[in-house]
Amino acid sequence: PSLTGAEIRAKFLNFFAERGHKVMPSASLVPADPTVLLTIAGMLPFKPIFLGQQEPEVPRATTSQKCIRTNDIENVGRTARHHTFFEMLGNFSFGDYFKKEAIAWGWELVTKVFQLPPDRLVVSVYHTDEDAFAIWRDAIGIPAHRIQRMGDDNFWASGATGPCGPCSEIYYDFHPELGDEHIDLEDDSRFLEIYNLVFMELNRDADGNLTPLKKQNIDTGLGLERMAQVLQGVPNNYETDLIFPIIKKAADLAGRDYHSSDEKVKTSLKVIGDHVRSVVHMIADGINASNVGRGYIMRRLLRRVVRHGRLIGIDGTFAAAVAEVAIALSESVYPNTREREKFIKDEIQIEEMRFLQTLERGEKLLEEILAKPEVQSSKVISGIDVFTLYDTYGFPSELTQEIAEEEGFTVDVDGFESEMKKQQERSQAAHEDIDLMAKDNWANIAKEIGKTEFLGYTQLSSEATVK
Ligand code: ATP
Ligand code: MG
Ligand code: MG
Ligand code: MG
Repeated sequence: PSLTGAEIRAKFLNFFAERGHKVMPSASLVPADPTVLLTIAGMLPFKPIFLGQQEPEVPRATTSQKCIRTNDIENVGRTARHHTFFEMLGNFSFGDYFKKEAIAWGWELVTKVFQLPPDRLVVSVYHTDEDAFAIWRDAIGIPAHRIQRMGDDNFWASGATGPCGPCSEIYYDFHPELGDEHIDLEDDSRFLEIYNLVFMELNRDADGNLTPLKKQNIDTGLGLERMAQVLQGVPNNYETDLIFPIIKKAADLAGRDYHSSDEKVKTSLKVIGDHVRSVVHMIADGINASNVGRGYIMRRLLRRVVRHGRLIGIDGTFAAAVAEVAIALSESVYPNTREREKFIKDEIQIEEMRFLQTLERGEKLLEEILAKPEVQSSKVISGIDVFTLYDTYGFPSELTQEIAEEEGFTVDVDGFESEMKKQQERSQAAHEDIDLMAKDNWANIAKEIGKTEFLGYTQLSSEATVK
């Protein structure tokens, strides 16, 4: 059946509420846990409970948790299933039920509530987890060859240390006609991981040692957008009702039709759709643009939105208008987006304007460089030119490269890197100079600093290392 994203969310939470789970609100994207920058999974707010540092209020809980995973940023728009921002539906047992119930309920949810045909599903277990294998085969009745044993991929941990354990995943098979002879769960043109059941019973310490937690816990994650993709019969998460209206808005502003656009334009639209959701929820949760930490991640995401907007032909500022759609889509479940609407839009507008100025200045300069006779004949932009754009005008080198390639030029990447190195050496030397001078002559220092003209916008200087 085709279900809306909101219906999928509600059905999931309801199913577990009926089975004794307390429905709890999503925690903030800014975790209480100081070791993590952003909430990356539904289990994060419960980490102290799993570690036995905090007593649970209830033995069972269920949530729809806002998550941001920056490690998936390069996958955005390139795979059908990855976002930076997504919602993870989860059911949790704090030392209450364990594998048998988690597997049986997970299966019942997927096959009865969401009515996915069992012969469209394949499951995985951790290679040494005979208990999980036996439950799937004997209690659920999955043919053994559709239970795949996996290695490290099926051992889940929230970070280098902390609670972890073997897991078992449910995959959707888009092409059962290909037969069961060669089931390769890493083939994402055929299989989509939708639900992960983690048997959270171990703790990893700083030396990598695994010790049993006091209790055996259950932590699960089902990707809302992925389930929506399957149930709505669309080719990727982006075309679900959870995200597509945002993409549609951006496409309208660019005067384009998403469906008849080429892959490159579609990718840009997906990046915009994804990153705008992240930015809206990050600002709603109190994150402001800055040069460090979460604020820098937000700024970086927003700058990618601006760049991709220009790539598809949008002039001027547009991100706040697109953000309005993301706010409208989220407000019934996450009311803080509407409550902080003005702040969100202002922050986006200011950031976007600043970045646009940098971009425009850089683009003009790049045009002049491209017009130089030697560049016209060699079709190569020198490392020094790329470096000047970056260092003086704050123009990211990857952007120079991208534009150059569009226009049929290449960039001397090695030359750029050697200029970067030279600059590092120079700045080290300059610091030494200043240190020496500082001992006796402050006036000279002031003169030195006055000579260094920074037309650019120094905040951008770390952009080059960031993709
Ligand atoms: P994948 O292998 O596809 O990258 P994962 O194994 O990293 O997914 P888990 O850490 O097991 O994902 O998270 C639990 C569930 O959350 C996944 O089964 C999936 O449905 C969803 N999920 C994970 N990462 C993303 C993402 N970047 N965007 C959308 N949904 C995601
Ligand atoms: Mg992943
Ligand atoms: Mg996986
Ligand atoms: Mg997984």
